[in-house]
Amino acid sequence: MSSDDEAEEYLFKIVIIGDSAVGKSNLLSRYARNEFNMHSKATIGVEFQTQSMEIDGKEVKAQIWDTAGQERFRAVTSAYYRGAVGALIVYDISRRTTFDSIGRWLDELNTHSDATVARMLVGNKCDLDDIRAVSIEEGKRLAEEHGLFFIETSAKDSTNVKTAFELIIKEIFNNVS
Ligand code: GDP
Ligand code: MG
Repeated sequence: MSSDDEAEEYLFKIVIIGDSAVGKSNLLSRYARNEFNMHSKATIGVEFQTQSMEIDGKEVKAQIWDTAGQERFRAVTSAYYRGAVGALIVYDISRRTTFDSIGRWLDELNTHSDATVARMLVGNKCDLDDIRAVSIEEGKRLAEEHGLFFIETSAKDSTNVKTAFELIIKEIFNNVS
């Protein structure tokens, strides 16, 4: 549209990656619909959800993609990553193996996208502090090593979920504007 008054359109594709059952689908459903499911099925999931927020008086839409459980077969396709400008790389603070996988997910992300993609390391299930297997310090250190933002979240009790998505959306906005 040509009018100067016409709001510019911002549409950002963000992907959520990480091992099976770390809480990717619930982070998205908590953010987009304020819903949490204790017994969510790995194979059931929408392709993406779109959420809008306002930054500097501009409407910014985030199209947030969720895997349909294909990460169990290590077969997240290149189509999933195509056009992404942001990524949440998620592990479960109560399961060490999911933290050990982060390097592999970063490699995969690097293979399928370019270096400008905004990245955030997310330690989910921080409500499970009593059975924590990865310390906050370890999460921070890994994030620093790879130049990622870092946050701990709980899709169950909502801790930092909105903050995590809004931080990455703002970072993407700053990168492009
Ligand atoms: P995905 O495979 O990464 O999409 O993981 P899901 O979102 O399907 O979640 C896997 C399991 O972890 C489900 O039983 C969820 O209820 C549970 N879960 C997800 N997020 C949290 C959280 O923040 N805290 C706790 N305690 N459980 C969670
Ligand atoms: Mg899922």
